[in-house]
Amino acid sequence: MQKPKYKRVVLKLSGEALAGDQGYGISHEIINSIAKQVVEVVKLGVEVAIVVGGGNIWRGVAGSARGMDRATADYMGMLATVINALALQDALEKLGIETRVMSAIEMKEIAEPYIRRRAIRHLEKGRVVIFAAGTGNPYFSTDTAAALRSAEIEAEVILMAKKVDGVYDSDPLKNPNAKKFTDLEYIEVLNKGLGVMDSTATSLCMDNKIPIIVFDLTKNGNILRAVMGEEIGTYVGR
Ligand code: UDP
Repeated sequence: MQKPKYKRVVLKLSGEALAGDQGYGISHEIINSIAKQVVEVVKLGVEVAIVVGGGNIWRGVAGSARGMDRATADYMGMLATVINALALQDALEKLGIETRVMSAIEMKEIAEPYIRRRAIRHLEKGRVVIFAAGTGNPYFSTDTAAALRSAEIEAEVILMAKKVDGVYDSDPLKNPNAKKFTDLEYIEVLNKGLGVMDSTATSLCMDNKIPIIVFDLTKNGNILRAVMGEEIGTYVGR
């Protein structure tokens, strides 16, 4: 059997990816199907860390647009990611996979504090590590958390799960002539303002040469295809 291309990956799941058609909250059907896809690659011996977003529950910018203090609204967003992380942990453990949730904000009754060396050790033991609470800082995003944690744990790639099969020059849902990129340079993503991740996160990936694969999570088996090195979606990294 073919060997996986990557040994250690970070999977970035947006809150939206967990929400299903209603666009908010958590869909158990979807979270279970994502968990199954993750288990497939863990069973191949790939070390998987997951950074989970919170936009299906709360976004700091939305709170601040309604007059809230931005930092307070952002802390609420970070707590939302913890809720998602626990749901994901539950789904994975029901499938017999060992997991650890590590939170960037200490809440030791429900999650381990994030300690880099410990995270690496968990991965080496075959546990899925779920990084919760983003970077622990307001004004950042979970995309930036994905870039930061990838650099810290020396992940080979970030798998950016989306609902579309890559990066396009315009919205493929609105423009039937939208062109898909198979390969992109980080600087192109920044200059063209392409919807890969926010610019802080993209810059961190660029500076630390962390490749990003943008792919369609809704297509079953795509996480496996990505770790096997199949060309799916858009590769950002040159
Ligand atoms: N957040 C933050 N700092 C971080 C990560 C997240 O303040 O390091 C807050 C921010 O308010 C953000 C919310 O948590 O809107 C949810 O994260 P994000 O929007 O990145 O989730 P996603 O878009 O992936 O669902």
